[in-house]
Amino acid sequence: MENAYKNFLASLALVKNLIQLEDNIYNQLLEPKRVLEVNIPVKMDNGKIRIFKGFRAQFNDARGPFKGGIRFHPNVSYDEVRALSAWMALKTAVVGIPLGGGKGGVIVDPRELSERELESLSRGYMQAVYKIVGPESDIPAPDVYTDPRIMGWMLDEYEKIAGKHLPGVITGKPLDIGGSAARSYSTAQGGLYVLEEAMKKLQMKSPATVTIQGFGNAGYNMAKILQKNGHKIIAVSDSRGTVVNCMGLDVDDLYRHKQKTGSVANYMGAEELGFAHCFEQEADILVPAALENSIHKGNAREIKAKLIIELANGPITPEADEILVDMGVLVVPDILANAGGVTVSYFEQVQNAYGYYWEEKDVLQKLKRIMSLAFNEIWVKKEEYKVDMRTAAYILAVERIARAMEDRGMA
Ligand code: GLU
Repeated sequence: MENAYKNFLASLALVKNLIQLEDNIYNQLLEPKRVLEVNIPVKMDNGKIRIFKGFRAQFNDARGPFKGGIRFHPNVSYDEVRALSAWMALKTAVVGIPLGGGKGGVIVDPRELSERELESLSRGYMQAVYKIVGPESDIPAPDVYTDPRIMGWMLDEYEKIAGKHLPGVITGKPLDIGGSAARSYSTAQGGLYVLEEAMKKLQMKSPATVTIQGFGNAGYNMAKILQKNGHKIIAVSDSRGTVVNCMGLDVDDLYRHKQKTGSVANYMGAEELGFAHCFEQEADILVPAALENSIHKGNAREIKAKLIIELANGPITPEADEILVDMGVLVVPDILANAGGVTVSYFEQVQNAYGYYWEEKDVLQKLKRIMSLAFNEIWVKKEEYKVDMRTAAYILAVERIARAMEDRGMA
């Protein structure tokens, strides 16, 4: 397994040399400001106590409170959470919202828990991190295998301990308790806006054909939004299989199949291929929307797409990244491509602070403006430094974080 944190450090070192980042700043970006490790006891349905290990990494808060999701997954680790927290700091900087970066995680396969056990774990996590989170210090949100329902339990737990309503402590909440319109699909929606900018730059024909890897919240919503915008989804994969239909898959029908069976595999409206064949499909655009390192040196050369939109965090290993750059593929990096989620989280917090809620169309208009602006600001850096888009995005982000640190006298 690739070490995501090592990958982050390698990118940071590259940027340091390109922009001649001062050692005083660089050294403070080598480690998160704080990582809390917690052990959460949960009484299981069989009456036995099971202990779950969790983390909350707070990477950098020079630009605003730490911000980032909580992941429930069996592969969560100290290094993964640290890397994800660093990427969050870069992400909030790239889109220019006044937040820093953090991330949480619990080592668990939530699909093995009953609803009661899951609620108990979610409340237990909030109790464990209570002292270091808050609307003005560190604001969690959903991530892989966590959802609005879990955010609702966590919010309730936090407010019970605090003894008052503080909806801004967590984002991605259900609408009835202070969630924002459009937050549930905002990661994908932001992905669409940058995809449209990238298609313009590459002068690609629209509609395009698309392959999507991963069919969770981000992947499913992206497929749905792309289809609504006239594009053709020709292949979708998840951890159990890949389904292909060159005429275009019916996204909602495929989703119903996944709801029923737990996977896209065995879907009738498609031809089925092994997981490894996903990349060989002749699509114009590839959207990785699953976990880290799914595109590696073993499969990168099989990619036919001219454009990749990284909806997942860290889906491409550094070796694969080099191969893709050589092949002339434009990779829109995760810290921009999936920043629509945290951007609408920021809107959610603003609405919570005001106690006044915006209409969906207003949220989307503001999101589009931010995503398109960030894309074009990165493009300017890309031309200026003659680098790929990922490096350009890192440059923009690190410069912004460095300026905030200097302003605070931290340099
Ligand atoms: N988990 C999402 C991400 O990785 C959203 C984070 C947030 O809204 O704070 O960007």
